[in-house]
Amino acid sequence: MRQYQRCINCVMDTTDPEIEFDHEGVCNHCRHAKEVGKRIWFPNEQGQRKLELIIQKIKSEGEGKRYDAIVGLSGGVDSSYLVYKAKEWGLRLLAVHVDAGWNNKIAEENVQAICKDGNIDLEIVKINWEDMRELQLSFLKAAVPNQDIPQDHAFFATLYTYAVKNNIKYVLNGSNWETENILPGSWGYNAMDGSHVIDIQRKHGERQLKNFPIMNLYKLKLYYPFVKKMKVIEPLNLLPYHKEDAIKELESNTNWRYYGGKHYESIWTRFFQSYYLPVKFNFDKRKAHLSSLIVSKQITRDEALKELEEKPYDDSKVSDEKKQIASKLGISIDELSALISSENRSHSEYYCTGNTFLYKQIFKIHKFLQR
Ligand SMILES: [Zn+2]
Repeated sequence: MRQYQRCINCVMDTTDPEIEFDHEGVCNHCRHAKEVGKRIWFPNEQGQRKLELIIQKIKSEGEGKRYDAIVGLSGGVDSSYLVYKAKEWGLRLLAVHVDAGWNNKIAEENVQAICKDGNIDLEIVKINWEDMRELQLSFLKAAVPNQDIPQDHAFFATLYTYAVKNNIKYVLNGSNWETENILPGSWGYNAMDGSHVIDIQRKHGERQLKNFPIMNLYKLKLYYPFVKKMKVIEPLNLLPYHKEDAIKELESNTNWRYYGGKHYESIWTRFFQSYYLPVKFNFDKRKAHLSSLIVSKQITRDEALKELEEKPYDDSKVSDEKKQIASKLGISIDELSALISSENRSHSEYYCTGNTFLYKQIFKIHKFLQR
């Protein structure tokens, strides 16, 4: 068996082809995560003060408007907890839930429960399934790592459309450094790049998309922040956020229920992360997730290594899952298996706005202005 070099601090290893180690054997992800943490993560009094100021600002700018902020609600832990807390802070929210066809039933019930309990306005947006199916098949044929792009793209494009439509400036985001501080770039590609989506559809699709929401990186980095003056806020970075505690708090104060692993609110995401990625590309997202928890000192490296001894997927359930996925996509199990075992491709073999000179310059300016 091939031996992989592993970071001495976290559990990332050379299955990330771009990983680098220092002379002590600590990886670039650990170093980078710590640097970013210093800048954005304040699970303390300082964070509380920052959060209070932001809430005040959001409320004062929301005066005379129907909503203070918009939030994408998947029904998973992060976004549900965020909505629950934002309600506690007295923010008037518009919650947007995008149904891309793969929702776990519990997650869907969670969305309804959280909004009903908190008396929060909820928009449920159903993506045209024929488009969704067509695009997912194109991505599978493209044989690229990030098979969550169609779903994620639909989520964010819809969220921003609703923000503009309702004249909402603040987007609350459930991203949190504590559990997501490590994710190697080589394992995927930016889901917001509509040009990438369109290129893959053009090369592998059987027809044009009719009604699929498309956004692009220029809109994200220029139009929304500078023309529409929109701001993305990550409140979970300004409070002590421990997933176990958040789950307990949600379960005891609302009708929300837990449904399993990280991002398993979608049947597709579950299959993609636990089976497609590790089997096809040898990318095991648990390594990034567990490493994040090590860096934020929620678990030890030994605990993470122990968890990694288990396979990322459950052998006894895979064939059922494949059957369910294939049937939903309207292909046979053999066709699905053939797509998974086709020759691997990288995202850069398709048009990537993120790799263009112009975008790289804009990205630098954007990063600078955001500080
Ligand atoms: Zn590391």
